[in-house]
Amino acid sequence: MTAQSDGQLAYELDRAHVFHSWSAQATLDPMVVATAAGCEVELADGTRYLDFSSQLVNTNIGHQHPRVTAAIAEQAQVLTTIAPSYAVLPRGRAAAAIVAHAPAGFAKVFFTNGGADANENAIRMARQVTGRDKILSFYRSYHGNTGSAVVATGDWRRVPNEYARGHVHVFGPYLYRSEFWAATPEQECERALQHLERVLQSEGPSSVAAILLETIVGTGGILVPPAGYLAGVREIADRYGVLLILDEVMAGFGRTGTWFALDQHDVVPDLISFAKGVNSGYVPAGGVLISDAVAAHFDDKVFPGGLTYSGHPLAMAAIVATIGAMEDEKIVENAAHIGVDVLAPGLADLAERHVSVGDVRGTGVFWALELVADRTTRAPLPPAAMAGVKSELLARRLLPFVQDNRIHVVPPCIVTDEQVATALAVYDEVLTLVEAAL
Ligand code: PLP
Repeated sequence: MTAQSDGQLAYELDRAHVFHSWSAQATLDPMVVATAAGCEVELADGTRYLDFSSQLVNTNIGHQHPRVTAAIAEQAQVLTTIAPSYAVLPRGRAAAAIVAHAPAGFAKVFFTNGGADANENAIRMARQVTGRDKILSFYRSYHGNTGSAVVATGDWRRVPNEYARGHVHVFGPYLYRSEFWAATPEQECERALQHLERVLQSEGPSSVAAILLETIVGTGGILVPPAGYLAGVREIADRYGVLLILDEVMAGFGRTGTWFALDQHDVVPDLISFAKGVNSGYVPAGGVLISDAVAAHFDDKVFPGGLTYSGHPLAMAAIVATIGAMEDEKIVENAAHIGVDVLAPGLADLAERHVSVGDVRGTGVFWALELVADRTTRAPLPPAAMAGVKSELLARRLLPFVQDNRIHVVPPCIVTDEQVATALAVYDEVLTLVEAAL
């Protein structure tokens, strides 16, 4: 079969039989991908795109890293699947490799199939340990598409799925669109903390099991918390006997220029959920890093949770190889360099020259350009204009991550200075077009 007819078949089978996420099915017209390598994705017709989305912000080591694909193939020859109750080398090695990059006081990992069930089980643990029910999370957040995780989520995806009990939401810090009439990061931090504590008090702290937050809010806008905010949340949680769960599903494993985003904030939580970058999604995997105090609770009490594929050998082999490659190739250091030396100045320059850029924020390879129709009112660039932004970026062979009125600049952690320069030139051209149409 020719590549062209394979592509046609892939498209036809998809439209006939594949039911897609978060979509009205009849409106879809998916791109047909044949292969990918590093920061590039190749379509069935041979067209190549620079991937500045990292797919769903998960391919931190890029596509088809040879060390990881080889490790998966090798493990497949030895032991493809085994129940979670057995001890097997790749599972132990994967847990040890993750723990090696966790804060002090974390020695155990519970493996899941992805990020949603990581949060689901972290919530479960917090409820078991505290004997309390409620979970406090941000309105601007995404925690996954399962029972509790989607109700802990703050964005529109929660509302049609609101069937889990015991969830309460608060506003987090977001200075550009402050809910607290704040003018400085210090004011935003202080007032967001006061709001959180007042909600906690009003809910009755003895009914609250945990505060669940993305260390840096991802899909909701790449919202880097102001200095002192997460330490303040930790202090409030401690004062009321509430556990702190940090969701590092999107922010973890190099994305922010450090192994975990929490490494850049003065905070140690009780539980850390992860997925995505832990093996760049080569085989589905996620998990919960468990602090020693929480782990000790389950030394002689049964943890009432489990999954058939917890610690799946192929996923574990991919984790060991991914973390090994990240260490040996200094991939996290590269993400830090790109953030400080290339994206920070490059995006600031775009903001200076383009009135449609209202705000730029981020760290590492985790940035957002927030687009506005009017800088004074900060009115978001309307959806039709954003659809135009997306199609113009695609027309220039850049795979973008466009969310609401933002372009998330989220390439793989292995991206080069030259690839970033190419992307910045594309953003520049497209912003010029957008402004001409305004
Ligand atoms: N938590 C965060 C912060 C996420 O960004 C996501 C996915 O985008 C999830 C949880 C859910 O992960 P998964 O889709 O692997 O279930």
